[in-house]
Amino acid sequence: MRDNKNNNSKNNNFKTKKALGQCFLTDERICERIVSLADIKKEDIVVEVGPGLGAITKHLVKKAKKVYAFEIDNEAIPILKKNTSFSDNLIVYNEDILKADLSFLEDIKEDVILVSNLPYYITSPIISLFLYNVKKVKRMVLMVQKEVGDRLSAKVSTKDYNSFTIIVSYFSKVTKLLNVSRGSFTPSPNVDSVVIEIDKIDREIKPLDEDLFIKVVNSSFKERRKTILNNLQSLYTKEKAAIYLEKASIEPGRRAETLSIDEFINLSNVIKNEL
Ligand code: SAM
Repeated sequence: MRDNKNNNSKNNNFKTKKALGQCFLTDERICERIVSLADIKKEDIVVEVGPGLGAITKHLVKKAKKVYAFEIDNEAIPILKKNTSFSDNLIVYNEDILKADLSFLEDIKEDVILVSNLPYYITSPIISLFLYNVKKVKRMVLMVQKEVGDRLSAKVSTKDYNSFTIIVSYFSKVTKLLNVSRGSFTPSPNVDSVVIEIDKIDREIKPLDEDLFIKVVNSSFKERRKTILNNLQSLYTKEKAAIYLEKASIEPGRRAETLSIDEFINLSNVIKNEL
């Protein structure tokens, strides 16, 4: 029987760092499957966040025209380079992705796809960064913890539906691609995982001010058990919040989790017009 385990960290005496979200993929079939699901064409450019020791990277470089990989841990870099030494299309940045200057991506002519087995402790900041700051990336294939996958595909009025669900679904269509058990990683995380695809969409109905829309959504969910009228008071006076809700035809006693994306767009437009 074929042994599908890679022993990158063991063979290289690498000590994994929990604080950096280092759960390395050791199941080779999963690494290959992720890259195959990412459907990379030979003219595509790939950005990989957290290549680690190269479990996914070594497959990505075989498919893409070029791979830009951002890894914060300088101790991982020599092993990453060794594991991808057969390739000449990998550019490694020893940088924190949340601080890196990514403006060069906007000048690339080819399609740019983000692929990552994400460091889970910064899942939302990374997704947010590529959703609305890095315009050039239109598609992401990401390993996230199962709970995040559930939240991102949650329907209105369910327990998983929150501000992140609304903001991500405003910008994109999310599809679950593959369930991955905790046994596929070393060390094993204490949660199961799922590979998702985030495909950016161009909405017909857009808010007048996207930043305001995001602000209104976030404050409406500030305290889940409070009504939308109460939560909006972190931004506006009670009187103003009540007027905005009335003009947007939203019952002030409702909770944010019962509002659809279109209702939030309408509410932020009412507020924009009143400001
Ligand atoms: N891609 C590898 C794999 O699948 O085996 C490693 C994935 S591991 C879940 C996450 C990786 O992200 C680690 O290598 C970690 O060092 C790196 N990382 C953590 N925080 C980072 C940051 N802010 N910027 C860039 N890389 C980061």
